[in-house]
Amino acid sequence: MRVVLATHNPHKVAEFQQIVGATRPDLEVVGYDGPEPVEDGITFADNALIKARAAAAHTGLPALADDSGICVDVLGGSPGVFSAYWAGQKKDAVANLELLLDQLHDIAEPHRTAHFTSTIALVMPTGEEHVVEGIWPGRLARAASGGGGFGYDPIFIPDGQSAGAERTVGDLTAAEKQSQSHRARAFAELVPLLARL
Ligand code: IMP
Repeated sequence: MRVVLATHNPHKVAEFQQIVGATRPDLEVVGYDGPEPVEDGITFADNALIKARAAAAHTGLPALADDSGICVDVLGGSPGVFSAYWAGQKKDAVANLELLLDQLHDIAEPHRTAHFTSTIALVMPTGEEHVVEGIWPGRLARAASGGGGFGYDPIFIPDGQSAGAERTVGDLTAAEKQSQSHRARAFAELVPLLARL
């Protein structure tokens, strides 16, 4: 069974293929190269549905789309849906994380809490739609660390690590990230729904 993944982000395609392969090796995740819709939603769910609907309509296949971002508590949940272009429309990942670190420069440890969110929409060719969400709690580091992953990974320290040995997501291996990320958590919610395919 083929499912189209409505993203042009190669990092997300790779992460999805690994996550899906671990639980549903019978599903072939194919990339989407059709027209990109304008993501003018104001929630992760709005944007995930916009992308999945466009891909399902264009390909006739069941379509998955993830809309994701980092939400910082002291910023009231921002960057949120603006994560990809927090420092401007150039979508520069390094400029984005440097701006965020700068904004939190004077914020002390207990108030640096944040989470990654991944909202995944599944749109069937019949029009049936589902939306699931995964949250990965943690806090912002003081400086970038690690060359793994993408986006804000080098400045996000996930919860649940031993004191004194904490690593950012940029320091994790791809397998470590995929076993606990917001995207993996959202996908776990989706597995029972994929049984309908
Ligand atoms: P989207 O492609 O419109 O969903 O934008 C997602 C943006 O959120 C990305 O460009 C990154 O800046 C950020 N983001 C989402 N997921 C991750 C992740 O797993 N690691 C780091 N940054 C992420």
